[in-house]
Amino acid sequence: MAIRPVLKEWARRAHGRLTYRATQLLSGHGCFGAFLCQIGREESASCHHCPCDEDTAQHTLETCPAWARERSVLVAAVGQDLSLRAVVARMLESEEKWQAVLTFCEAVVSQKEAAEREREASADAPTIRRRLTGRRRRQFNLLMPLLDGPRTTDSGESAGR
Ligand SMILES: [Zn+2]
Repeated sequence: MAIRPVLKEWARRAHGRLTYRATQLLSGHGCFGAFLCQIGREESASCHHCPCDEDTAQHTLETCPAWARERSVLVAAVGQDLSLRAVVARMLESEEKWQAVLTFCEAVVSQKEAAEREREASADAPTIRRRLTGRRRRQFNLLMPLLDGPRTTDSGESAGR
């Protein structure tokens, strides 16, 4: 079966029935190292969940060992062939298979999103340190007039005492 009619039918049925996370996994545009690297959000395309040096949607779906448990549930529903083309075709075969793919995407992509948020939070740490440095600099600048004070206001303030 040619892929184009399958995709056309798939898109018709998918309308309004795909979750954001399923769309990420099926399009590859989501929290996958290779994509994040491509758009400049990460420095490396490598997987944060296994030693693989290229984290793609296909890696997540088919091979990443981190998602073996979720994958076994998916394979039980749609079969061993987890190529994107096969998965898209299986989704059309029954509601059960469609739901199995959505369940996998929700479970796995939500965990990848959580891991990405944690990385972003720790990546913010240097920014916070920079902000502290800035505050320290401002505090130092506030102190400067006081340090200069005795020289410039010497006569007036000394006269007050
Ligand atoms: Zn991996």
